[in-house]
Amino acid sequence: MREIGVKTITETVKKLCIEANLYLGEDVLKAFDRGEQAEESAVGKEIFQQLKENARIAREEQVAMCQDTGLAVVFVELGQEAHIVGGDFNQAIHEGVRQGYKDGYLRKSACHCFTRANTKDNTPAIIHLDLVPGDKMKITVAPKGGGSENMSTVNMMTPSDGIEGIKKRVVEWVKQAGSNPCPPVVVGVGIGGTFEQAALIAKKALLRPLGEKNADPQVAALEEELLALVNNLGIGPQGLGGRITALAVHVNMIPCHIASFPLAVNINCHAHRHKEAVI
Ligand code: SF4
Repeated sequence: MREIGVKTITETVKKLCIEANLYLGEDVLKAFDRGEQAEESAVGKEIFQQLKENARIAREEQVAMCQDTGLAVVFVELGQEAHIVGGDFNQAIHEGVRQGYKDGYLRKSACHCFTRANTKDNTPAIIHLDLVPGDKMKITVAPKGGGSENMSTVNMMTPSDGIEGIKKRVVEWVKQAGSNPCPPVVVGVGIGGTFEQAALIAKKALLRPLGEKNADPQVAALEEELLALVNNLGIGPQGLGGRITALAVHVNMIPCHIASFPLAVNINCHAHRHKEAVI
């Protein structure tokens, strides 16, 4: 059985926390280019230019692309043939977040819910663990800002609402969110499962590279239709009006109970950050 030491996990999480906050992905930068081309509003076009300039400054001057460096959401796909050695798996991830946010000069945004006292090191991380075949570990760090995370919802729709009901609710929700999640946004939609699964698959939908469609043609068609509907809202970049409110709509769908039709929407902002590594 292959061994993975907790020190390697900590070092990897630390590095990913810093990289995710400094380096916007190529897929997002390309989506900015496409957005700038397609945007009809002059102000909207200029905002796309500013977003690209912001990403360049973050990359070259090694500063966070946004002051809200988010809660550290960490997805782990752990190969079932791997054995973690040298300590506690969860603590290794928290330590990586602690070190990454300290050494990367990233804002610490985690606090006690009632007293609002800052935990001072951006822990605890939010850890989602999946067991998968193999003997490796894939770690993805996706810092999530408060402004966009606040614009999330889970709706226990009914089967009679149908796909039309789902479309209506997603569009209504993005409209209600308006400029709060710092558009242009990426809309993660989770359909099916149970209450908590819907939310998780909506968040996982945000990890898919921009421009990549769902493999199921029916779901891919829904993504395309939702993107057109959302972009017809006219919210535009930074909410100042325009054609491009969303860079993409990603839908994940799984089976649900015969009496249910769960729907979750998790919006991400233009600081669409995530970095991954395999150890
Ligand atoms: S929503 Fe995103 S871009 Fe806006 S402040 Fe928060 S992290 Fe930054």
